[in-house]
Amino acid sequence: MLSIKNLHVKLEEEDKQILKGVDLEVEAKVHAIMGPNGSGKSTLSYVLSGKDGYEVTEGSATLLGTDLLDMEPEERAAAGLFLAFQYPVEIPGVGNMTFLRTAVNAQRKARGEEEMSAADFLKVVRAKAKDLKIDAEMLKRPVNMGFSGGEKKRNEILQMAMLEPKMCILDETDSGLDVDAMKLVAEGVNALRSEGRGFLVITHYQRLLDHIKPDVVHIMADGRIVKTGGPELALEVENNGYADILAEVA
Ligand code: ADP
Ligand code: MG
Ligand code: MG
Repeated sequence: MLSIKNLHVKLEEEDKQILKGVDLEVEAKVHAIMGPNGSGKSTLSYVLSGKDGYEVTEGSATLLGTDLLDMEPEERAAAGLFLAFQYPVEIPGVGNMTFLRTAVNAQRKARGEEEMSAADFLKVVRAKAKDLKIDAEMLKRPVNMGFSGGEKKRNEILQMAMLEPKMCILDETDSGLDVDAMKLVAEGVNALRSEGRGFLVITHYQRLLDHIKPDVVHIMADGRIVKTGGPELALEVENNGYADILAEVA
């Protein structure tokens, strides 16, 4: 589904190469990327999202065969990419419901589909909120304003559920998720796990993976994927850290 080949990325402002040839194939399964701090995990998610400030100097990234790197961020979303960010933005004055409806309709428009009627949207958003145990009151509040960490996480999962992406990228590194918030993320991901949907879960710690059992685990170090394996690879990292793996691949 998501196919990354020999991806090289440098900072636009500085002559600093961060990704040094990432090769990664993500199928319609749950893939985890782990790796030491500073290895380029967040940079990879930013580049895939189309964030400014990075320059692709070599390589490619495609989603279902379509070149992602040529697209505007909203076109990437329309193509089925969803990125959950470590720090969800607060948007004063914009109701959560309005925000979700705008996002859903922007995606439909970019796909050449008709807008969802207000009535249909309400029906869908209420049903999905209920499935995810999200309070109806949260739908009316301004986006993420005054939300607790857990509420922001729930809201992020609701956004994901509404947009029905094909490929979800979650960068949870360094976000200091407490156990409850981590469980929420895991429940949300597990609820949306389905045939035809892929997940790339980026995390520094194994503990998130106790709740989201990955099918495939990749280790990233110094701007490359250096090892790929099954869930046992995450346990190896938990028990022994990265040193053994890095020595092995060096
Ligand atoms: P990870 O998420 O694996 O911890 P990052 O992608 O955040 O790694 O960072 C990879 C490397 O790139 C680090 O050395 C980091 O300091 C550097 N880096 C990333 N973004 C910037 C930036 N905007 N300016 C300077 N250095 C950056
Ligand atoms: Mg980091
Ligand atoms: Mg990071």
